[in-house]
Amino acid sequence: MTSKPKTIVTFYNGLTTIGGPMIEVAYDKSHVLFDLGEVYKPDLGLSMEDEDYQTLIKYQLIGDVKNFYDPQITGQPIDGERWHHAAAYISHVHLDHSKVVNLIAPEIPVYAGPITARLLSTLNQNGDFLLPAAGHDKSYTRPITAVELGHSIKVGDITLEIVASDHDAYGATGLIIKTPDKTIVHTGDIRLHGYHPDWVREFMAKGNKCDLLIIEGTGVSFPDEDGEEFSGPKNEQELTEQIIQYQKRNPQRQLTFNTYPTNVERMLRIIADSPRKVVLHAERAALLKRALGQDVPYYYLPEDQKIDALNSELEISYSNLLEDDHQYFWQVVGHYDQLKVGGLYIHSNAQPLGDFDPAYRPFIENIEKRGIELIPLRCSGHAGVDELKKIIAGFEPKILAPVHTLHPELEENPFGVRILPKRGESLELS
Ligand SMILES: [Zn+2]
Repeated sequence: MTSKPKTIVTFYNGLTTIGGPMIEVAYDKSHVLFDLGEVYKPDLGLSMEDEDYQTLIKYQLIGDVKNFYDPQITGQPIDGERWHHAAAYISHVHLDHSKVVNLIAPEIPVYAGPITARLLSTLNQNGDFLLPAAGHDKSYTRPITAVELGHSIKVGDITLEIVASDHDAYGATGLIIKTPDKTIVHTGDIRLHGYHPDWVREFMAKGNKCDLLIIEGTGVSFPDEDGEEFSGPKNEQELTEQIIQYQKRNPQRQLTFNTYPTNVERMLRIIADSPRKVVLHAERAALLKRALGQDVPYYYLPEDQKIDALNSELEISYSNLLEDDHQYFWQVVGHYDQLKVGGLYIHSNAQPLGDFDPAYRPFIENIEKRGIELIPLRCSGHAGVDELKKIIAGFEPKILAPVHTLHPELEENPFGVRILPKRGESLELS
């Protein structure tokens, strides 16, 4: 007599570090893997060319997962006897959740929300976002199936539902996984202070009383710095308002900014609400055009190639921007030495992101040396300590598994047990 199959969850990567969660849910001959990112470790000094499969495994930048990666990359065949149904999922476009999507075997479907699916191939148009697929050009992005939110996908015995969530990556989603006997929720990266807290509340209601909640815990990673992150804007709304205020208070001053490319929604709000005309670097304008079909004013740096997708009538000359002190609020991406002395530059979660990146300090000093006032205007993509408690309370999980955090032990579960899985460890849900 064979025993009844069980739901088995294996935690491959991204547990006690911020980013790169890789988790497998398996039931009988079906299994799914999520997310498909690489842990971000700028201190290793690796370039994309250095990041072959062996290196990624060696530095634990990805999980040592069997039967999902492309055999052409790993040299190990996929066990088709053992697994009859497989699929993978990406919650959002940040690299620590998406960068290795091209390493998944071509025959295994990868699912994502519609915006994530469309943005990833756009972001990789120049071949410098995702790791390359075997036998393809660097700018290739493997097919990613866009799933309409709220619709279910069958992967053998497992059902996946992709739901809207909120994070500082445009189109971020969460995942509800149902096996024949258990419900598992994967939050992806999540917060309640973004543009769509209502979507997060709906997600919590849908996943309420799940058997296992896999939650990110970035917000509990720095217990000693508690409160510090809140000295800036409390939420995305307030951040946009502050940007508008800087423009109103400085009618005659060169005003520039930069943001992170995947925070498309912040960009759209800045464009919509700014009293000045917002001008983007051509690359960023092309991203909005390709991903959303939206045309915005843009400029080229002297060394840039022309981009066919852009409407030439919307081009503003770079020299006009360099001279301007009242008309434009423009995205600057380099050549800080050409900016006006006495200008103001808003660094809004742009790269380099922060002190953990060795490039951050020299970047700040270089701009300030030029006599430009630098305003770091941040709004976290992640729930803070109190928001995490609210999110856990919204899901009321039987088991809580914090991942994607330096301190998983600081997340508690008043509704059941809390586990601290080790890297590579499997949990049988019974
Ligand atoms: Zn993220």
